[in-house]
Amino acid sequence: MRKALRAELHTHLGAAVDPPILWSLAHLQGIRLPSKDYWEFEDMITMTGTEYNTSLDEMHRKFYYWTELIQSSPLAVEESVKSVIGGGYRKCNLVLQELRLNPMFRNRGGEQDLDHIIMAVLRGMDKAMLEYPMVKAGIILMMDRTLTTEQNYIIAKKAIAYKNRGIVGIDLAGPQRESFSIEAHLPIFEEVRKAGLGITLHTGEEGNLDELRYVVEHIKPDRIGHGLLSVKDTEIMKAIREQNIVLETCITSNLRNRKVTNVEEMKQIIHTYLRENIPFTLNTDGPEMYKTNIHKEQLFAIEHGMLTEEQVATCTETAFSATFIK
Ligand SMILES: [Zn+2]
Repeated sequence: MRKALRAELHTHLGAAVDPPILWSLAHLQGIRLPSKDYWEFEDMITMTGTEYNTSLDEMHRKFYYWTELIQSSPLAVEESVKSVIGGGYRKCNLVLQELRLNPMFRNRGGEQDLDHIIMAVLRGMDKAMLEYPMVKAGIILMMDRTLTTEQNYIIAKKAIAYKNRGIVGIDLAGPQRESFSIEAHLPIFEEVRKAGLGITLHTGEEGNLDELRYVVEHIKPDRIGHGLLSVKDTEIMKAIREQNIVLETCITSNLRNRKVTNVEEMKQIIHTYLRENIPFTLNTDGPEMYKTNIHKEQLFAIEHGMLTEEQVATCTETAFSATFIK
């Protein structure tokens, strides 16, 4: 297993940078952190095996606030991206990595220029691939439910503008908001698709089966982040299978965020995917925040009877074929 080539399609930059690197970047930029003690800082931005979030809102507030603030400059974001792509290769032989981030959460409310942020991200990625030439990487720009449709459209247009330079796809994430309309985002996804970029969305992770149904029927993404709720509806599973939509499964993240009650429920969901021929991949969602990596996720799935070694290998093959990196 250790020497196997691995691929990961679902990692958030805000949850993927080694804490000592973030600590140094915070100090380099003179950011006032809530603690002068490194270990307190590390505890603040990572989760132990006994910590759980009760909602996605809580997860974002507790963990992403500081990591995104520290990553909010061209200098910091470049170093962060470089460290995650290089680290993935060194730690678990990730030769293909798609990394995602929301550039609008890294521009200090407009103080930093979005293009500078995006170009720094791409520089960091290029430098990592120069250091580790066997690695292929690509960046997914994320839109968010807490932003306005207009703001999300700006992000989508940036993704299109940089598509030949390393941006490979678009994503939508974030906790549900009254103000958010998935229908209003349909034309944005259509424009992104026409431009030749990959489409993935965080949906079916919590409560909203209607949104998942709408996404599958109308947006027809290439992939879905999580999509756990699909197991509750045979019609949705049928549509996912027929459209060959790949589910990006993140076992540890789903457990830590209480999206599944326990290991047994996660096992049932994965067995349903297998039974229904739903294509899926294994991912970390954020290796540093959840103190995991793709190799550990694979071992966890095997140890808990969720997958066999052959099925893990199939997940890896699916990741290599479902990548947005051309
Ligand atoms: Zn995610």
